[in-house]
Amino acid sequence: MNDAATPTDAAAHPAPAAAAPVKRTPLIAGNWKMHFDHLQAIAFVQKLAWSLKDAQHNYGEVEVAVFPPFTDLRSVQTLLTADKLAVALGAQDVSPHASGAFTGDISAAMLKKLDTKYVIVGHSERRGGHGESDETVGLKARAAVDAGMIPVICVGETAEDLEAHGAAAIPVQQLTAVLAQLTADATFVVAYEPVWAIGSGEPATPAQAEEVGKALRDVLRAERGDDVANATRVLYGGSVASQNIASYMKQPNIDGALVGGASLKVDEFSRIAQFTKHVGV
Ligand code: PEP
Repeated sequence: MNDAATPTDAAAHPAPAAAAPVKRTPLIAGNWKMHFDHLQAIAFVQKLAWSLKDAQHNYGEVEVAVFPPFTDLRSVQTLLTADKLAVALGAQDVSPHASGAFTGDISAAMLKKLDTKYVIVGHSERRGGHGESDETVGLKARAAVDAGMIPVICVGETAEDLEAHGAAAIPVQQLTAVLAQLTADATFVVAYEPVWAIGSGEPATPAQAEEVGKALRDVLRAERGDDVANATRVLYGGSVASQNIASYMKQPNIDGALVGGASLKVDEFSRIAQFTKHVGV
C-alpha cells in the first residue's frame, strides 16, 4: 500500500506554518545630553536630514530620533513640521507629576504638546547624578505612556555590579521594577546601557550586549507575554560609533542604539543610522 500523502490529504491537513520571523523596526536614537542651544540644534537637524536624504535613507526601515535639551524642543519641532522631516523627536527626561509646584520640572503633557514621541527615563546620569530610584523611573515611564509618548527605559550595570553580579542581573532587576509601574498595554523601548561603557570609548562586546538583550527580552516574555516581548525594541548604548554599530545590529536581540557622543557629529550619526549599508562588512 502506498501511504504517501495525496494532494487531497495535503489540502485537508496543511503542514503547520513556520513561525514568521520577528520584525522590529530598528531605532537609532541620538541623546545630545546638555549640548547645542536651539540655533545649533536647528542647524544640526537640517544637516542630518540633508545627509540622510542624500543617502536615500528609508525612515520606515530604520527610524531615526534626536533627543535635544528641553530648550531646543520647540525649535526642532517647528523645523521638523515645516520641512516635513521624518526624524522623530525625543526628550531626555520627564517629571513623574502631572503639574504643580515642581520647580524646574517639565511635564509629560508639555512634551506631548511639542509632538515629542519618545522620552528617555532612567538614564544612568539621572539615576546616579540625581538619585533617581527604580520607582521614580517607573513613575516617569508611566507619566510618558499616559500622555501618549513612548518611554525609552534605560537600564545598565556599573563596573562594580558587573564584577559582583555579572552583566545581566542589575538590568533585569531594573527593568522588572519599572514594568511594575506600567500598565499591561504600555508601549515602550528598552535601552541596555552598561554604565562603564557610556562615554568611555570601551563599548560592551556584541556578545555581551546580546546576552543582556536576551535576558531583558526574557523578562518581557515572562512579565508581558510573547506579543510584547516580540514587538518591543531593545537598544544597546555605550560608546556606539559607525565602526561598531553593525556588529550590534547583527545580534538577534538588539534592535538599535542609544548614541551619546557620536550623535553630536552629523556625518558620524548619519553613518550610524545607515548601518544597513555596512552590516556584513
Ligand atoms: C549615552 O549617554 O546614552 C551614551 C550611550 O553615551 P555614549 O554613546 O557617548 O557612550
